[in-house]
Amino acid sequence: MDRAITCARCLADLRTTTSIVSKFNTDWICRDCKTREVAHPKYAEANRAEMEAVRRGDMNYPGIGVPAKLYRPPCKAEEFVVTARLLTRDDPEPVSVSLPESANRYAFPDGSRAAVLPTGAICVLAYA
Ligand SMILES: [Zn+2]
Repeated sequence: MDRAITCARCLADLRTTTSIVSKFNTDWICRDCKTREVAHPKYAEANRAEMEAVRRGDMNYPGIGVPAKLYRPPCKAEEFVVTARLLTRDDPEPVSVSLPESANRYAFPDGSRAAVLPTGAICVLAYA
């Protein structure tokens, strides 16, 4: 697969920023779009499906498909997740278990919501 020169989601110039292939499909995406992807509730499922495909020898696995919200401009909860990554230099961790009571939950003016777990993992709970 040829490396793309623009992010498939936000059209950022990939010649001037870090890029990586999506877990949801085969798009080349920028670092911020990767962060948004990792914070999506379906990321763990996408990651698991890709790993199972590789394990059975399918190197052309197309992915489970990109949630439509990831093609739209980020909502406030996603901006929060991207900013947290910039501050901590860590990517969010995908949340694959039900949210513990101890998670801090944040609601944003646009109606979106995010959670920060005691481990530092961040995820988007609701999109605007
Ligand atoms: Zn992007």
